[in-house]
Amino acid sequence: MSLAIYPGSFDPITNGHIDILKRALKQFDEVIILVAINPNKSSRFSIEEKILMIKEAIKYINGAKVDFTDGQTVDYAHKVNTRYLIRGYRNKEDMIFEEEIAKVYREQDKEIQMIYLKAADKYLNISSTLIDEYHKTGKDISKFVPDSVVKMYQKK
Ligand code: ADP
Repeated sequence: MSLAIYPGSFDPITNGHIDILKRALKQFDEVIILVAINPNKSSRFSIEEKILMIKEAIKYINGAKVDFTDGQTVDYAHKVNTRYLIRGYRNKEDMIFEEEIAKVYREQDKEIQMIYLKAADKYLNISSTLIDEYHKTGKDISKFVPDSVVKMYQKK
């Protein structure tokens, strides 16, 4: 069975993330969305909230799983016995950022294989930050995120 990890903050998960996940699942039998807990970065949603939203959003997607780590992504990859890491990119800024992240991963394990999927045109402008801004200004976010995210925002 082939396995890859899709790491990120997912704060919150968007339809752009889901699209990357589904496309990664065309290459791998199983993809684990790995929510990173970063104590140095402030987060809009708690880890429990993020997991809840993701679980609900992926429940009908075959081969999709979710987990979290407060450690290093590379250590998690070793634990589950894979070296494939999926990342999405939308633009040049993402690419520059990804270059830095890849360097960090490679320093930890030079066998790590990064797999980059280009965002689909309709998701090019979607980011977790934009969703949060839309929500704050009263715009409808339901076109851009799974229902579970809309529900979580309503609860907050
Ligand atoms: P991070 O904080 O680690 O960048 P994010 O949760 O923002 O994590 O994103 C996780 C991954 O998904 C990153 O590789 C990011 O570039 C990618 N991504 C984010 N939004 C989109 C989108 N709309 N389309 C495709 N990929 C995306």
